[in-house]
Amino acid sequence: MTTDAPPAASSKRTTLNARVEKIFDHASDTRSLFLSLTSGKHLRFVPGQFISITIPLADETRSRPYSIASDPEDRSPFEICFNRVAGGRGVAWLFDRSVGDTLDFSGPFGTFTLAPEPDSEEGFIAEGTGIAPIRPMLKQALAAPSAAKIHLIYAASDRQHILYAAELDALARSAPNFSYEPVIAPAESIYDRLSELAQTRWIAGDQDRTRHLYICGVGKGVLRLRDLLRGAGYERRAVHYEQW
Ligand SMILES: Cc1cc2nc3c(=O)[nH]c(=O)nc-3n(C[C@H](O)[C@H](O)[C@H](O)COP(=O)(O)OP(=O)(O)OC[C@H]3O[C@@H](n4cnc5c(N)ncnc54)[C@H](O)[C@@H]3O)c2cc1C
Repeated sequence: MTTDAPPAASSKRTTLNARVEKIFDHASDTRSLFLSLTSGKHLRFVPGQFISITIPLADETRSRPYSIASDPEDRSPFEICFNRVAGGRGVAWLFDRSVGDTLDFSGPFGTFTLAPEPDSEEGFIAEGTGIAPIRPMLKQALAAPSAAKIHLIYAASDRQHILYAAELDALARSAPNFSYEPVIAPAESIYDRLSELAQTRWIAGDQDRTRHLYICGVGKGVLRLRDLLRGAGYERRAVHYEQW
């Protein structure tokens, strides 16, 4: 199979077209679309990157980024995963897509990708659908020859919104260097809880500041976590984040 779109941050703004091959509902407000390029080619991307989807509403055309939740090595349709947002007309349009519909997008884009430092421990923090870019990053990190520790703290407001839970459990059982901590907390205090856990594990837990830490979620809580970790002595470049 041939490939389309280079994986680097230099991706040109070429419009690509994809067909919805499959729909999976994680919960009533959280869905995955599995997409394949109508050109028949395979989309190349780096774990952590996103595509920008063109959303033609009646009164405006908007472009919204969605992270690729699947593994680039997987030759089946690639996956995006999203949740409904109060007043979010862009994502509502995505929820209205059916199998066989097509959509335009550009990309892949983004630099929220694994740092090329295989020997440093990697810590991941995800909230809700913020697991989307982290899922393929975890797989990439686990496929590396390094046995460095990898830990995921993953928070949602209830069990149903811990996505890919069975897969994460299986990974934690099979990969001795991977551990994972699902966290259930009320939506309004989710980032307080994540901050406490990050503080305990990666700040108070030891003096090691060589880890690379990756955060993905919605709103200012992401920046609070970033600042907490940087303020505790982690280098700026070692605290990677993507704020939606
Ligand atoms: C790099 C990047 C990657 C992204 N990847 C994803 C993804 O994989 N899955 C996904 O669901 N969203 C993702 N988003 C958010 C997505 O692009 C849209 O902002 C979201 O779907 C709302 O768009 P809208 O046009 O419906 O709403 P808008 O009217 O544009 O509303 C935006 C508001 O919703 C908030 N918001 C954005 N995303 C969420 C969310 N997931 N949950 C709750 N509130 C949210 C924003 O902070 C903002 O206040 C990503 C954003 C960025 C910047």
